This record gives sequence, structure tokens and C-alpha cells, in this order.
Amino acid sequence: MLPYGKQTIGQDDIDSVLEVLQSQWLTTGPAVEQFENALADYTQAQGAVAVNSGTAALHTAMQAVGIGPGDEVIVPAITFVATANAAVYLGAKPVFADVDPGTLLIDPIDVARKVSPRTKAIVGMDYAGQPCDYRELKKLADLNQSWLIADGCHSLGGSYLQQKVGTLADLTCFSFHPVKPITCGEGGAVVTDHEDLIPRMKSFRSHGITSDFRQREKSSQHQYEMRSLGFNYRITDLQCALGISQLSKLDRFTKRRNDIARYYDQLFQTQKTITPLTTHPSVCHARHLYVVNWNRKLAGTDRNFAFAQLRDRGIGVNVHYQPVYQHPWYIAQFGDQTGCCPVAEKVYQDILSLPIFPQMTEADIRFVVNTIF
Ligand SMILES: *Cc1c(COP(=O)(O)O)cnc(C)c1O
Repeated sequence: MLPYGKQTIGQDDIDSVLEVLQSQWLTTGPAVEQFENALADYTQAQGAVAVNSGTAALHTAMQAVGIGPGDEVIVPAITFVATANAAVYLGAKPVFADVDPGTLLIDPIDVARKVSPRTKAIVGMDYAGQPCDYRELKKLADLNQSWLIADGCHSLGGSYLQQKVGTLADLTCFSFHPVKPITCGEGGAVVTDHEDLIPRMKSFRSHGITSDFRQREKSSQHQYEMRSLGFNYRITDLQCALGISQLSKLDRFTKRRNDIARYYDQLFQTQKTITPLTTHPSVCHARHLYVVNWNRKLAGTDRNFAFAQLRDRGIGVNVHYQPVYQHPWYIAQFGDQTGCCPVAEKVYQDILSLPIFPQMTEADIRFVVNTIF
């Protein structure tokens, strides 16, 4: 089965992890800080806090800006559930905004309709790797005095108006799951220019305790203070060593992903059964996913049929994502919100994610396209 996404691991990654395995610190050692510095350097952000998943990164970022009970957090209807769940963890209510039908990115016009005095944050999610319309989102956030958070789990390596994903919002969250632009096995990070929020996030990642074990070892102190309620969201040095070597190759991965997308675009140009999503000229797309619309009328079959057929023939297609509020838990918790994001509900019926990952060959791409037609 040709997967829809997959990690690229080289000997340099293996060597990097082995080195840590033979060192003194397996967790919360020097590699964590090195990885954080490398992420801040790469994204041009003032600082980074590495945690053990993208979900933990979203939770940490939302906690840092003080989201809590009674607050509303605007999130796109089409995203991975974790984007909305992070607000729920803090007792806030996710409010779903519709998406643009061409890009599936959060639609600033619908965000403007859904902001309220309770809106504590607006969360943009860079669907498939394409940065959202941050200029418009920033205006809305400023006007409403709310925070702008980027779920950049798809878009590390991308940019918007020449500016790297990482400083386009107040805080930007990344995931390093194996299918994402770079991997740590599992892992995540928050990057930000708000340096004052960094100590708070570092403490949240380790039980709300103000120092870590290595700092106490260095200063020969046994005493620590827990000053707030945190979690164990620590990432290991093994994971960060992998992250450091992966990050050094990110631009090559992004370029390869864009080459693959261009080749797909070209092969799909001459037919109408499949319409790839659109890309704005002002962005550098990270191409985490290659998503197309399946035109059921012209194809004579619906997306679910196409999905099953392609899977049968060895193509690991996928669907990203069902509108979050349609999941049973969301219906049970927040009621039936059918109709709140009509574009999302409609496009969800027709979208299909085709395989894309850096080591995919041109023969693989032709195999996918020839199998579809
Ligand atoms: C992967 C992903 C997450 C969660 O990241 P994990 O590292 O799996 O916890 C959150 N949001 C989006 C959009 C994602 O794709």
C-alpha cells in the first residue's frame, strides 16, 4: 500500500539518536534546548518550547494565553479534532468557523460573524500545509482584542508573504508525528515572539514546577516549587535529537513535496473528474497533504466509492477531515450544530487526500494517477 504520508529517515537521523542514547541525558537534557533553539532560528521566532505532541503544544499555547471556562475559541470546522479539543481541555467552548471552498482554510468572513465578546482566541489551521489568510485574521483578532493562534501542524517550512510560518500568529503550534513535515516519532512545539509566555509554557509542560531536574542538579538544590497545575508534556532528548537532524533537511523535504504536487497538478490539468485545491500566489505551501475534490457528477461515482476502490488497488488515500462538530462526542457535549458551516459540510463529502511524501517517486505518482483514470 502506497501510504498518504510517511516519514523520511536517513543514517544521519539514526546517528543523531544513537549519540543521545549513549549520553548522560535521555530526557530534559541539552538536546531539548538545542532543538528549541533550532526551531526558533528556523522560524525566526523569539523562542520555542518543545513538548511531546502537537496536541500538547495546542493545550500549552491555549493555557499560556489564559483561555479558561466561559471563553470561546474560534476554530475551523475542518481540522483534526485536537485543535478544538485543546480549548475543551481548558473548559472553553470551541466555536466553529466555516472554510473557504477552494483552499479549505478558515474563512475570515465567517470568523467575523462568529466573534463575540467571549472570543478569547482565533485559531487558524494551515490546512494541507498552506498558511491561512493571517493578514485578515490578525485584523479580526486585534479588533476584538483576542489572541491569534496558528495550528501549524501541517505547515512547518511554509511561508506567507515571505514570512515563515512561526511568527504569523501570536503563538504557532507544530506536530512532529511521522506523517508531518518533520518527525520526532511523537512530538510538538510552540514557537512565539511573546517571550514572557515562555517560562509559563515550560512550567506547564512539567507539572507547573519552576525548575527542572537538570537545573537542580547543576545548582545542587533539591527544593522545587509547584506554582500552578501543569502536566507531564516533556519531550525526550532522543526525540529532540531526531528533530534536530530532521529540521536540517526540512527545506529539501518541502521542495520535494512541492515538486510532487506540481507533477500531480500537471497530470490532472487535462481532465475534470478531479479538482486539486487552490493555492494562493502569496504563499509557500508546505504540501503536507495533496487534497483533491472528487467530482461525483463527472466521475459517475461518489468519493466513498472512489476511496474504497483506490484502497483496494493499493493506494492509501485518506480523508482530512470530517467537520469536528459532527463527531458523536461533540454532538453529545455541545448539541447538534448541523448547518453551522455549510461549506465544510458539503466539501467533506468530496475531498480525498492522495499520497504525498518526500521519497515518493515519479513512477509512484503516475501509478496513482493511472489507477484513478
Ligand atoms: C497532527 C495534528 C495535530 C495533533 O498533533 P499530534 O502530534 O498528533 O498530537 C493537531 N492539529 C492538526 C491540524 C494536526 O494535523
